[in-house]
Amino acid sequence: MRRRDALFWLSRAALAGAFAGETALAQDAPAPIAPGAPVAPTPSDLLGASGEPYFTDWLNAFYARALAAGVPQGLIEQALSGLSPDPRVAAHDTAQPEFARPVSAYVEAQITPARIAQGVTRRDAISQFPAIEDRFGVPRDILVGVWALESEFGRLQGDLDIFRSLSTLAALGRRRPWAESELLASFQVLQSGKAPGTHLVGSWAGAMGQTQLLPSVYLADGVDADGDGKCDIWGSAPDALASAANLLAKAGWRRGEGWARQVTLPAGFDYGLAEGPAEAPYAWAERGVTPIDGRPWTGADGAAEAVLLLPCGAQGPAFLAFPNHFVIRRYNNSLAYALTVGLLADGFFAGAPPQIPWPHETPLSLDDRLAAQSSLKTLGYDPGNIDGIIGTRARGALRAWQKANHLPADAYFSPQIIARLKAEAAASACAPAGPSESGNCPATPGAFTHP
Ligand code: CA
Repeated sequence: MRRRDALFWLSRAALAGAFAGETALAQDAPAPIAPGAPVAPTPSDLLGASGEPYFTDWLNAFYARALAAGVPQGLIEQALSGLSPDPRVAAHDTAQPEFARPVSAYVEAQITPARIAQGVTRRDAISQFPAIEDRFGVPRDILVGVWALESEFGRLQGDLDIFRSLSTLAALGRRRPWAESELLASFQVLQSGKAPGTHLVGSWAGAMGQTQLLPSVYLADGVDADGDGKCDIWGSAPDALASAANLLAKAGWRRGEGWARQVTLPAGFDYGLAEGPAEAPYAWAERGVTPIDGRPWTGADGAAEAVLLLPCGAQGPAFLAFPNHFVIRRYNNSLAYALTVGLLADGFFAGAPPQIPWPHETPLSLDDRLAAQSSLKTLGYDPGNIDGIIGTRARGALRAWQKANHLPADAYFSPQIIARLKAEAAASACAPAGPSESGNCPATPGAFTHP
C-alpha cells in the first residue's frame, strides 16, 4: 500500500471509529491473530513519526480527532510528516524560574537608551502607521513597545516548527485541550492560504512572527497592512504591527486615552487602595494623588477611570493606570509586561527613557514564592494556585492579610513579609487541637517591623 493510500484507509477507519479499539472488542470477541497476519499500520507509523510512546499514542489519537474535525488528510500529512517531540519545548514547559526577576529589574533591563533610539528609528521607517492608527486607534508607540518585547523588533521570532512545538505540548498533556485547539487553528492557517509558504515557525509556546501571535489569533486578527494579499507576520513588520493593533482594538483599546501616568502619593496614604477601585483622576486628586510631572490630565484621561498600581510596593513608584493598561495585559497577562510596553511607548514618544527612580528589590527564590502562597492559604486566604507565580490573586491575598494585621497593605512580597507569613502559617498549622498537642509548636514571632 502506498503511504498516501494507507493514510486514506486509516482516515476512513478513524472516522468509522475503528480507533476506539476497546469499544469494537467489547462487541465482538477478538479474533485470534494468525501468525504472520499483517498488522494495520498506525498513523504515527505512516507519518514516519517517532518518539516515546506518550507521543505516538497521543499522535494516533489526535490524528483521528483532526480528521473528525474536518482537517483534510493531505494537510495533516503535509504538516505532521516525520514528527517527533521537541525536547526543548518539553524543557521549557516544565521550567520554573528559580528566581523571579523583580519588576524593577525587568523594566530597567528592557528600557535602555539604545532600545529607545532603535524603536524610534524603526517606527519612523513604517509608512503604514497613520493608516494603522486611523483604523484601529492604537498609537504607534504602543505597537512598537509590543514589537520590542515580543521579538526585539522582529529579530528574535523563534524558528521552531509550530506543529512540532504544539504537538509536544499536547502530548505532554498539561495543556492538551489548548494545544490541540491551536494545532487545529494551525491547520486552518495553512489551509487559508493567508500565510506565506507552507511552513509555520515560531516560539516553543506556539507564538508566531514579529508580534508573536498564536495561530488562533492569527486567524481571528491577522491583517494585511502592506497590501500584498498575504498576512505575513514573519516577514512584514506592517502586517505584524497591524495584526497586533487589531488584537488590542478587539480587546477594548480606548482610542485617544493614555495607558498610565506616574503619580505621587501623600504621606499617610492608604496603600490598600492599590489594584482596587477604578476612579477618575479628579477623585484620586481629592486623596492627594497627583501626576508627578505636574502636567494636567488630557480631556480623555481626565474622564477615564484609573486604578492605582504599586509595582514595587510602598517603596517604589506609583502609577494611575487607565483601562488601556489592562488591554495590554490581554497580550500578556503580566503587570511588569504591560508596564514596560507603556513605558517604552512613553520613551519612543519623548525620544528618551522615562526617568523613574526604581528601588532595589531582592529577587525571590522559587521556594520563597511557593512558601508565601501556601502560607497565605494555610492562614485562610486565597492566593490562587500554589505555583510560584505571584499574580493578582496572590497580591490580593497578601493585601487582605496585611489589612487584617494592620500593616501597610501594599501587597508587596518582601523577604521580611514572607518570613513572617511562614512563621504565622507554621504556628497556625500546629495550633493546639487539644491541651496535650501544643508541645511541638514553634514560638510565635515577636513584634514585626515593616521595612
Ligand atoms: Ca501583507
